[in-house]
Amino acid sequence: MSSNRIAYTVVDSQEHDLPGHPENPRRFQHFHRLTESPFSEQLLRVEPHEAPVSVVTSIHPPSYLTELEQAASRGPGFIDHGDTYVTPASYQAALEAAGGALNVVNAVIDGQARSGFALVRPPGHHTSATRPSGFCLLNNIAIAARYAQSRGYPRVMIVDFDVHHGNGTQALFEKDPSILYLSTHQYGIYPGTGSIQETGLGEGSGSVVNIPLPARAGDQAFEAITEQVIEPIANRFGPDILLISAGFDAHWNDPLASLQLSTTGYNQLGIALLRMAESLCEGKIVYFLEGGYDPDDLWDNILAILYSLKRESLPEDRLGPAPFPEISVDDLIETLKSIHGLHSK
Ligand SMILES: [Zn+2]
Repeated sequence: MSSNRIAYTVVDSQEHDLPGHPENPRRFQHFHRLTESPFSEQLLRVEPHEAPVSVVTSIHPPSYLTELEQAASRGPGFIDHGDTYVTPASYQAALEAAGGALNVVNAVIDGQARSGFALVRPPGHHTSATRPSGFCLLNNIAIAARYAQSRGYPRVMIVDFDVHHGNGTQALFEKDPSILYLSTHQYGIYPGTGSIQETGLGEGSGSVVNIPLPARAGDQAFEAITEQVIEPIANRFGPDILLISAGFDAHWNDPLASLQLSTTGYNQLGIALLRMAESLCEGKIVYFLEGGYDPDDLWDNILAILYSLKRESLPEDRLGPAPFPEISVDDLIETLKSIHGLHSK
């Protein structure tokens, strides 16, 4: 039955690689196992192709693409003041990652699949219209969001649960009331944006929801925030499609940050997001891979999301719950309710 299928694509960008860098093709080393996973019969593999430049320029101006292509041709090297690298293959890799994202969206919009997961790299959510950063070159989810709008889905909700704030995605859409951007992230780490007070600008006022979490927030925090903040915001916004920036660096075992989601927590979050998509937008939900840097953990956490897309709990959690007690986020939730007008009555 096509209606239960999960579309996916894998763009591992083997030649976009820099020795010693955490964002590298080894992250994808287990993904070939998808075809022998418990989901194999429900998975619909879509082939990636380079995103059409005419679609990419809905987000990134042609001058940026020219600069990126030229910088890549001079690679390997860094193209920002941080550690975002390019190699001579990176421009094509970025176009293929964006193209893979578009093809998964197409499969869902065309009804070949009910949901989707674009397993692509390089990731995208730190890149604004003209500035690459945070290992990201083209903003895959932003390109997909604009594309979905062009295909007749005017209201797009983006939920970004990467441990880092998606500053690029926010900058792209913070003045746009048709795209709601909601991010959970650890506060005080890279890139330093994502304050609770950043709620959108001008006509887009209210269309940005930042949920900055303290270190050691984990499964219980996510469960409470999902129920008391994310779901009411989604109900009020009424999306036509739900797009997810899926970063798995919020797992307690990830080397880059200190949130404490478990693999079971990711599964539960995924089930809650699917439930929202089912009640609001006919189950149309598409995931886009962002961070997650331990290959074994990344694989487990992606399986947790795939189980969630079948509405199933995880049969086993190899890493188990976080080893430290969780910190309460009750005060944060009250502040969020106040800022975003979520108090009942
Ligand atoms: Zn991240």
